[in-house]
Amino acid sequence: MRSAEIKRRFLAYFEANGHTVVPSLPLPFDDPNLLFVVAGMAQFVPYFTGQQTPPFKRATSVQKCIRTPDIEEVGKTTRHATFFQMNGNFSFGDYLKEGAIRFAWELSTASQDEGGFGLDGDRIWPTVYIDDDEAVDIWHRLIGVPLERIVRRGKADNTWDMGIPGPAGPCSELFYDRGPEYGPEGGPAVDEDRYTEYWNLVFMEYERGKSTGPHKGDYEILGELPQKNIDTGMGLERMATILQGVDNLYEIDETRPILDRAAGLTGRTYGAKSGHAASQSHPDDVRLRVIADHVRSGLMLISDGVVPSNEGRGYVLRRILRRAIRAMRLLGYEDPALPELLPVARDCMAPSYPEVATDFTRISTYAYAEEEAFRHTLRAGTTILDSAVADAKKAGGTRLSGEKAFQLHDTYGFPIELTLEMAADQGISVDEEGFRRLMREQQQRAKDDARAKKTGLADTSVWRSVLENGESEFTGYQEVIRESKVTALVGAGGVVGAAGEGDEVDLVLDATPFYAEGGGQEPDFGRITISAPGHDAELEVVDVQSPVPGVIAHKVKVLRGEVRPGDPALALVDVGRRASVSRSHTATHMLHAALRRTLGDTAAQAGSLNAPGRLRFDFHNPSAVPPSVLADVEDEINEVLLHDLEVRAFITNQEEAKRLGAIAMFGEKYGEQVRIVEVGDYSRELCGGTHVARSAVIGMVKLLSESSIGSGVRRVEALVGLDAFRYLAREHVLVQQLAGDLRAPAEQLPERIAVTLDRLRAAEKELDRLRAESVLAGAGALAAAATDVGGVAVVAAEVPGGLGGGELRSLVLDVRGRLSPDRAGVVALASRADGKVNFVVATNEAARLQRLSAGEVVRAMAPPVGGRGGGKDDVAQGGGTEPDGIAQALVLVEQAVGQRVSGSA
Ligand code: ATP
Ligand code: MG
Repeated sequence: MRSAEIKRRFLAYFEANGHTVVPSLPLPFDDPNLLFVVAGMAQFVPYFTGQQTPPFKRATSVQKCIRTPDIEEVGKTTRHATFFQMNGNFSFGDYLKEGAIRFAWELSTASQDEGGFGLDGDRIWPTVYIDDDEAVDIWHRLIGVPLERIVRRGKADNTWDMGIPGPAGPCSELFYDRGPEYGPEGGPAVDEDRYTEYWNLVFMEYERGKSTGPHKGDYEILGELPQKNIDTGMGLERMATILQGVDNLYEIDETRPILDRAAGLTGRTYGAKSGHAASQSHPDDVRLRVIADHVRSGLMLISDGVVPSNEGRGYVLRRILRRAIRAMRLLGYEDPALPELLPVARDCMAPSYPEVATDFTRISTYAYAEEEAFRHTLRAGTTILDSAVADAKKAGGTRLSGEKAFQLHDTYGFPIELTLEMAADQGISVDEEGFRRLMREQQQRAKDDARAKKTGLADTSVWRSVLENGESEFTGYQEVIRESKVTALVGAGGVVGAAGEGDEVDLVLDATPFYAEGGGQEPDFGRITISAPGHDAELEVVDVQSPVPGVIAHKVKVLRGEVRPGDPALALVDVGRRASVSRSHTATHMLHAALRRTLGDTAAQAGSLNAPGRLRFDFHNPSAVPPSVLADVEDEINEVLLHDLEVRAFITNQEEAKRLGAIAMFGEKYGEQVRIVEVGDYSRELCGGTHVARSAVIGMVKLLSESSIGSGVRRVEALVGLDAFRYLAREHVLVQQLAGDLRAPAEQLPERIAVTLDRLRAAEKELDRLRAESVLAGAGALAAAATDVGGVAVVAAEVPGGLGGGELRSLVLDVRGRLSPDRAGVVALASRADGKVNFVVATNEAARLQRLSAGEVVRAMAPPVGGRGGGKDDVAQGGGTEPDGIAQALVLVEQAVGQRVSGSA
């Protein structure tokens, strides 16, 4: 039975039994601790914890999951994939233990003709929590499983909780016996390869409290849950492994073709050297399974909007793709592998997820670019790593420092795992602890920065207490002035009872027209006036943030007077700034729409900034956008905005937003109610920001630049409205000025400037040539002016300034060539340039026979010019910083020659 059919049957069975079919969440998950969805229950957590009331009593889904801790297991066990699909049925205060067990049993064992999976009931082994007699009873009495096949297990295996206080309970897992060829007899406790866990039924019955110990299940039980729930998870891939009769999860229909393709490319025969048991696997086979699993996971991750990067989800994706590529290399395949493998993965997954085919161009662009980047990294990083390893070895060490590993990661994108593996290949270990410490420090810095900005003066627990006074209502979509009441004042140390002149505090109102920074839009500024019986105050709003959802904190400076909680307040937004920021925000939506129209839907937003008069927009695109394309985009925006389109914002539900084709950001979490902003028919996006009422108000948009800000992410910056106009006006003045200076009409300026630059270059060249000529022409005169020192011809002179070391050297050699070879000759010339001195000395052969050395003469010259020098016997040169000493240095030349000649005579 194909995987797509297993999925279909599962949903059909539970739908027929009163469950609402709910679509999968996308893999990226808005939880800082999780990164990805790891189980089907993720989207129902608020129902299980009682925070929200579910709209249904029963639900079913096939949830896409990624479990990063299982990455290391992949290929080594028979049953752990990084990406897998969890089929689940859920009950919210409806059916309980008995219902859950009956459903799981019936669907597992009903014949395939009846729509079930047709498993042999005699081969199913249920496990239950050690003292869950009720479950034993249901399995035994109601279902008829003999007691010897019902296994009681401890807390570690058969309890469930979320790691924090909240719902918890025992569970019961279904294992399938795959037969004696997979391992020894005895049930799940003996062998988890032969007995494969395929379904876990969680009975959420009680509420757990704080942890009481280090182990799973160590917590106090606070009592029974007011509403008991059921949460189950059946691994789709594990069911497919069983039903397709294959040895392990990587050989099912959704991965086997990838594995086969990888085997073909690398010339390996999969399974030739391994037995059934994972533990008997040959490393080649493990690598092929890793490749098959990781390529599929990479496909699904990019499909859900994750792009490779150096942190968070992007890093997991990067690691997964790079592990696959590296496994291919270890099997001897050096060419780009993903272009061969990814299309195979697409064909495997498209039956269940058609979007991987329709969106394949975007998906493959990222994947292939990542492989290219990795190949590049491997080339550059391998050299760095090799030399680091060589250095470490030379220093007698066997360990690569944490700093080096961190540098490889930070600068070259080398995943630490890769550094570990490659260092190990060269027989050296890595200071992993040091590396992790540096990583933590870096992350902490980033977090501190972000938090300091968001939460203002106080930490989040203070804000949660503020929230207990009620949420602040944002009224700024409709108004810019509002009468309201101060509900809290927060200073550096927490909540305060009053603030006086000169103080800077965070102030919270029960309702406010001030927009808190968010969604890329900068905050409103403005004034708040307080007039309470007995006191009043004037406050300047310098920042507005939402430190926790529901709280809008105005950072204010008290200009005058005093403010206290409970005071009546009048909030006045700076409307000029608000209007300007709103123009930028609407312009950003139009830019986003124009880019998508031109570059395709792959040009999705990656970030944005809407500030007064300017905007910044980051988007995904694998390469630079050519200037001509940008010019077209700019032209289109300006034309469209003049159509004076109506800008409309309205609230609707997610379903409807999707139907309308509104653009939503991947990875962003939206509630059930969403706000849509549309600009005529041109753009439609989910957005919480403020906008202009009609597009013509934007006036004008001028794109300034386009650049790369990371692999596959581009940034466009633009000016909006009056700022765009003023920029163009300034440019116009500049052009006018240039046209006047160059006496040419504006259109001819580029040509005129090019011609002028050409001429200038030619003139400079000519000047160089002439100077060299004139200097060399002086060589004859210098040679002729040689003096005689004890029979040696000595030329010691300062030559005109401005000669570089090279020119001076050729001149000295030229002069030497003009002296008679029969007689000892020494040439020493000095030249000054920019307050510095160059000097060069040369001797001829006859002089060297008299043991006259150029190096020695240079050293003699150096002290008076405050310099240093050295060289060989025939030519030497030096430099100094005191031109006034040149005359003295030249006298020393003659002295040095004189001493040597008389000394040797
Ligand atoms: P195991 O002990 O085998 O790792 P688990 O206890 O972590 O499994 P649960 O958290 O109970 O699994 O998840 C419910 C079901 O999801 C499992 O019964 C199994 O069928 C499936 N499942 C869990 N992890 C994976 C994985 N890495 N790859 C494929 N299926 C998985
Ligand atoms: Mg597990």
